[in-house]
Amino acid sequence: MTEPTDAPAHVPGFATLAIHAGAQPDPTTKARATPIYQTTSFVFDDVDHAASLFGLQAFGNIYTRIGNPTNAVLEERVAALEGGTAALAVASGHAAQLLTFQTLLSPGDEFIAAKKLYGGSINQFNHAFKSFGWNVVWADSDDIASFERAVTPKTKAIFIESIANPGGVVTDIAAISRIAKRAGVPLIVDNTLATPYLVRPFEHGADIVLHSATKFLGGHGNSIGGVLVDGGSFNWLRENRYPMLSKPRPEYQGIVIGETFGNFAFAIAARVLGLRDLGPALSPFNAFLILTGIETLPLRMQRHSDNALKVAEFLSAHPKVAWVSYPGLPGDRYYNLARQYAPRGAGGVFTFGLAGGYEAGTGLVSGVKLFSHLANIGDTRSLIIHPASTTHRQLADEQKTAAGAGPDVVRVSIGLEDAADIIADLDQALAGV
Ligand code: PLP
Repeated sequence: MTEPTDAPAHVPGFATLAIHAGAQPDPTTKARATPIYQTTSFVFDDVDHAASLFGLQAFGNIYTRIGNPTNAVLEERVAALEGGTAALAVASGHAAQLLTFQTLLSPGDEFIAAKKLYGGSINQFNHAFKSFGWNVVWADSDDIASFERAVTPKTKAIFIESIANPGGVVTDIAAISRIAKRAGVPLIVDNTLATPYLVRPFEHGADIVLHSATKFLGGHGNSIGGVLVDGGSFNWLRENRYPMLSKPRPEYQGIVIGETFGNFAFAIAARVLGLRDLGPALSPFNAFLILTGIETLPLRMQRHSDNALKVAEFLSAHPKVAWVSYPGLPGDRYYNLARQYAPRGAGGVFTFGLAGGYEAGTGLVSGVKLFSHLANIGDTRSLIIHPASTTHRQLADEQKTAAGAGPDVVRVSIGLEDAADIIADLDQALAGV
């Protein structure tokens, strides 16, 4: 017989959650790895069961565009790793951003975004979102007060990246969260480059965390996916500023999602309104691959960070390299923020500048052999790109520089190979520029 005890329940650690959170042996087959439920639809028990699923009175599977059991394991796992209440897995990181803003904004509304961001997000906000009437107002994460100055009565959210792509910038999440709280709006943090192994945005005041799971969560360069995570902390009902959550929904018999679903209402709204109506569903096969990647997330992120630090040290001492922006280097402008927010390491992605400018940048990406020249990050393999001629080429010159993608800048995503081999490849390519 077990004695009753007041001892607190044991809380599993990060590595355990990365392998087990959300997963059980399959109840029918006893399969241990999460099965890929490669099906469009799920059979109802009977008419009443179907009605209760469609009316949101019961949780269950209807149709894979709205939810799938393989995707559900991924959702629970990422929510557990981030410390959120619920998550929604979608087709890409950009889809996660789309659904997040569609849940929060009406035409004519504004949101504030840090201007050091992934170039694709800058484009999405400046062009696609503006065509929906959602107006981005840019602020500077190096000048925290610029976020406060940008707040207007139309502001509905603040968006930042924890470690900003193209790398090297660690954002003061807690300081910006205080501004979001004063403005009464949620703070959305894109945690793609850091992953919850390095940075845990909810612990610093974020309300919603987003991922391009395409990058380090999946980690093997084989699947596009995205996840949004609900922190459960934001009061959506105050002042009716978020009508998707605070007003009765005609398509669901007048339920108020913010009341019915409490601290996971945001994730539910993004699913039953956003994903259902806009349609960017994640394939269960991709969910499976991303889940498999997550099982080794702590090992990989530590190695990415350790390798990146060695490469950054090598580059800092190289005569053809004008500067290196890696927050793990003592003396770097973001070193203290990295110590505060990412004490285990500053991640695998960073930029450096070549003394030879644009020509040297294009020459370096042509000269590498182990590195792959491509537009992704967060792979087991080391990757390299010259943003000014690729990902950021649509931006005007001053926007490129403001986004950290000037003509001399090279971005690397350091992989899991032997650090000596990564360094040797850069060394031979630098000799040719
Ligand atoms: N957020 C960040 C920080 C990214 O680096 C990317 C892609 O590079 C995205 C979002 C968009 O993700 P996806 O390519 O999965 O749509």
